[in-house]
Amino acid sequence: MPVDVDYLVVGAGVVGLSTAYHLKLMNPNARVLVVEKEAAPGAGDTGKSMAAFRVIFTSRISSLLARSTISYYSDVEKRGFSLGMTWAGYLFVVDEEMRGHVERGLRMLGEGGEWEWVEPGLLEEKLNMRVKVSGLEEAEIIGASDVVGGVLVRKAGFLDADRVVEHYFKEARKLGVEFMFEAPVDRLNLEPRTSPLGVEGEPFPWQAPRVGGAKLAGGVEVRVRRKTVMAAGVWANRLLNPIGIDTFTRPKKRQVFRIPARGRLGELLKKGDLTGSGSPPLIILPRKVLVRPAVREGSFWIQLSDELGRPYTLEEPPAAEDSYYNLSIHPVLALYMPDFEGVYPAGGWAGHYDVSFDGNPIVYEPYSSDLIVAGGTSGSGIMKADGIGRVAAGLALGFEEVELYTGEKFRVSWLGLEGRLCEREQLIL
Ligand SMILES: Cc1cc2nc3c(=O)[nH]c(=O)nc-3n(C[C@H](O)[C@H](O)[C@H](O)COP(=O)(O)OP(=O)(O)OC[C@H]3O[C@@H](n4cnc5c(N)ncnc54)[C@H](O)[C@@H]3O)c2cc1C
Repeated sequence: MPVDVDYLVVGAGVVGLSTAYHLKLMNPNARVLVVEKEAAPGAGDTGKSMAAFRVIFTSRISSLLARSTISYYSDVEKRGFSLGMTWAGYLFVVDEEMRGHVERGLRMLGEGGEWEWVEPGLLEEKLNMRVKVSGLEEAEIIGASDVVGGVLVRKAGFLDADRVVEHYFKEARKLGVEFMFEAPVDRLNLEPRTSPLGVEGEPFPWQAPRVGGAKLAGGVEVRVRRKTVMAAGVWANRLLNPIGIDTFTRPKKRQVFRIPARGRLGELLKKGDLTGSGSPPLIILPRKVLVRPAVREGSFWIQLSDELGRPYTLEEPPAAEDSYYNLSIHPVLALYMPDFEGVYPAGGWAGHYDVSFDGNPIVYEPYSSDLIVAGGTSGSGIMKADGIGRVAAGLALGFEEVELYTGEKFRVSWLGLEGRLCEREQLIL
């Protein structure tokens, strides 16, 4: 028996969940179905993230999306549902080499980019950071220079991505959104917009084809009266490319290494707080090594996004590579933060960034196909999901404009291909 719905959302990651929730909120009488290949929501890249958030972006559009999403999350917490938000801040550690670029960089941070300068002495005292590295053999090998200070952005921190998933899932279900798990879409169905002829080879181009539904792996056919929203993250092109649609995004593997905070690192976790949040900040070391404290878990998560040399491929399942930590991360980490010297991960995980051509999300409907692509989150989808969901839902409902949680009017075309209003995002971590 085919399932008939008004809107089909493919993928129950944070983007699909937020989209389904907003779709149903904006159009309560519509039947909205989310299909997900895994057994639970958030099991794709959403569950692999470091779940850090910030409002600073070099692109105004990304900043708007993040600001409104974070404001929404804060209010969810105020209403009593904890998302584990910790306002620990982001600390950009500045070395001699970067000193000259800092002012320009800070100007680019745009709205919400309030920051304060942290003297090297405080980095030494609170974070046991080694600020004078010149003269050390390791520093020479890496080409590292002395730390001249840090830039602390307070309106930032991290949260619990699983709780964000739980929030949208719970609220969407309450509104009546339906879900099917372990229900991978095998293919998208094209159908004629005009009356079908029952002829082999339909739909022909003159029949103005549309995406009329999907076939699930178990054989179930889902028929869609209005729109299908493709929110399958890095897997979306697998379903879209065969029918001539592109997401204009590509997957890049990203790895996280978990280091238990024992001994010196345990002390660091306790004393490194710079904002009164109870946690050290997310530290961005020179060469972009990220140190993300996980206080409740008693560990540090370490990440480094390599660009040149890292291929655009979808690895399944993606795995963290020991050698990547040992050779690419540890030398920089141990140099600036000697507490990590000789310390190696107790595990790790990997996922992919869904990288768009300008580093901003993409939401568009190609060829009037009744299919909406919602992706391209480029490594910051958790912190922008509420905004992206509103835009995708608005486009599916035919609106030209939606209202973000913070009240700004946002034209849906700003995330599209025509009418796109996105400067290249330069702060992708
Ligand atoms: C290592 C790492 C660190 C990150 N750190 C941060 C961070 O600090 N802050 C931040 O904001 N963002 C971060 N991100 C990015 C963030 O995780 C993503 O932007 C976000 O999760 C994307 O959500 P999504 O819903 O588009 O994709 P996903 O969560 O991947 O959801 C897509 C869903 O579609 C499902 N699916 C795929 N194919 C099919 C099919 N054929 N049928 C049915 N279902 C299907 C998948 O199973 C998946 O559940 C990080 C990502 C990684 C990998």
